[in-house]
Amino acid sequence: MLRDALAEVWRPTAYVDSMAAEHYRTRSEPALRRFYEREVSTLSRAADFEVGFTLELDPRDGAEPVRFTGFIDRIDRLPDGSIEIIDYKTGRPKTQYQVDSDEQLTAYALTVREGAVRDPDTGERLPRASRLTLYFTETDQAISTTRTDEELDAYRDKVLALAARIRSGHFAATPTSSRCRSCDYRRICPSRWGEVRTKASTGCGS
Ligand code: SF4
Repeated sequence: MLRDALAEVWRPTAYVDSMAAEHYRTRSEPALRRFYEREVSTLSRAADFEVGFTLELDPRDGAEPVRFTGFIDRIDRLPDGSIEIIDYKTGRPKTQYQVDSDEQLTAYALTVREGAVRDPDTGERLPRASRLTLYFTETDQAISTTRTDEELDAYRDKVLALAARIRSGHFAATPTSSRCRSCDYRRICPSRWGEVRTKASTGCGS
């Protein structure tokens, strides 16, 4: 069934060239097998899949709520009654350090804590997530982390500050070496990393 599903959506032209397409096609087969085996063995504890949500954050300044939408790949029930949030990833696994600071997982944990996700069986608010996991399908690696209330509060404040900037029309570029290196607009962007510094050091303002 998984093979058929993949064949149905497979678009070789979505890749840079036919070699790249073949490379990913070859990697998909073992990844699908591992995914299937892991899913079957843990299916009994799954509470829900592909859970859509809209989280409303109150800016507390009289402005409209900030709405945050997304989908959580999978939510599991743990034996102690708490829940685990799981997000599936392709590609190279992240380090524990990167997972500990992964903002997507933080957003999901905040969403559940704020009651924006309901239990599919009872309709009640889900309990907070005691475990957050990124599951890397190609290497069959699950890396878990947690978030404290303080970390979730800090993330909520960060999102609200970002939304306030967007609403005020403040879109100043924030170049960094790593961000600009992989940006599609780096050839034409006047704010790209290195550009401003070079002009400043040469005195060139054009
Ligand atoms: S190249 Fe420009 S648009 Fe791209 S990340 Fe850097 S500053 Fe942003």
